[in-house]
Amino acid sequence: TAPKKTQFGSLKDEDRIFTNLYGRHEWSLPVLNWSQNFLKIVDWILNEIKTSGLRGRGGAGFPTGLKWSFMNKPSDGRPKYLVVNADEGEPGTCKDREIMRHDPHKLVEGCLVAGRSMGARAAYIYIRGEFYNEASNLQVAIREAYEAGLLGKDACNSGYDFDVFVVRGAGAYICGEETALIESIEGKQGKPRLKPPFPADVGTTHCLITALSFPRRVWLPTICRRGGTWFASFGRERNSGTKLFNISGHVNTPCTVEEEMSVPLKELIEKHAGGVRGGWDNLLAVLPGGSSTPLIPKSVCETVPMDFDGLVQAQTGLGTAAVIVMDKSTDLVRAIARLIEFYKHESCGQCTPCREGVDWMNKVMWRFVQGNAQAAEIDALWEISKQIEGHTICALGDGAAWPVQGLIRHFRPELEQRMRRHEEAQARQASA
Ligand code: SF4
Repeated sequence: TAPKKTQFGSLKDEDRIFTNLYGRHEWSLPVLNWSQNFLKIVDWILNEIKTSGLRGRGGAGFPTGLKWSFMNKPSDGRPKYLVVNADEGEPGTCKDREIMRHDPHKLVEGCLVAGRSMGARAAYIYIRGEFYNEASNLQVAIREAYEAGLLGKDACNSGYDFDVFVVRGAGAYICGEETALIESIEGKQGKPRLKPPFPADVGTTHCLITALSFPRRVWLPTICRRGGTWFASFGRERNSGTKLFNISGHVNTPCTVEEEMSVPLKELIEKHAGGVRGGWDNLLAVLPGGSSTPLIPKSVCETVPMDFDGLVQAQTGLGTAAVIVMDKSTDLVRAIARLIEFYKHESCGQCTPCREGVDWMNKVMWRFVQGNAQAAEIDALWEISKQIEGHTICALGDGAAWPVQGLIRHFRPELEQRMRRHEEAQARQASA
């Protein structure tokens, strides 16, 4: 009975991971031989993950096999825990929400695979406070997993105990940052910590924690069942596998779609989202990876592949793979100003470049919207965005700086024209 909002891409039926977005879930874990020797199964899972080339699906693109090897070191007797980041709050991004609505069992299985391979005692799924229905869905899937013997004491008849808990956040965007998320789970204010030490070395006072992005987890059961080589057969080298893309904005049929990595952006929009409103020629710009990635103009959208390396070459990023399409009716300056206002509101205020810099960018951007900024402020805006980038505790500062940089890099004439129009209007008023 799931709503048919989410579409499939051009992948063949048998290669789709999220088939359960449309139907009934079947557990994939019983097909794995969980009772075999613990070290053997850990080696096997890690090997499959490394072979698959799976990289973090939450934005940074960190290789999963490498991340797990940090966690898989001796714990000196301290308990290990997993934390799953389901605090999806980025504007334009809603793929985790779709999975939790229609296929929450995949996440539960993913927690068990990851937990088993790292020797973790339990997983904590941190879910955004506003996702009430999704949290309820997840609780049902967890209950079913306990009833099927996949979780709890002697999980999957392996002699291994593993529990999964859901923790609901309170709606702060910054709690999507892994250390802020851990702070929040511990009952403190959700503010990012300085790293190092990394959570894998000292998560809470006595525990070791690995925080994995939500999407990375849901791919695991299928990779284990079908093999890392199968997963690596999709996409380009270093950019393998399939991915869920959100396509929103000025398209005819906004959707979430599972597609092969490296699919051309133009094909993604035209084939799955019904094309740009008014036709491809009406396209102005795209935010290819959610609100934290730099804008790209139509000329770049013609050819760019949707993967980590292709988008970095285009001076932007894959981010959360939330494609936000803007047609020629868009007031780009206002759209970016609105995003900066969001980041200003969500900044936790710990570090000066973010607290003061993003506030400053917000004020200047709204002056540009009204047309009463000074010409020199374009360069000043660029400079302050560079002072924020890479100089903050967490990536929120970068996320605020990059859309501004994309605007200036590709649409500087828009800003200049806006000021000229304002000056002309003032001159007309003065002479009248
Ligand atoms: Fe807080 Fe911003 Fe610094 Fe992140 S970058 S820790 S949100 S002040």
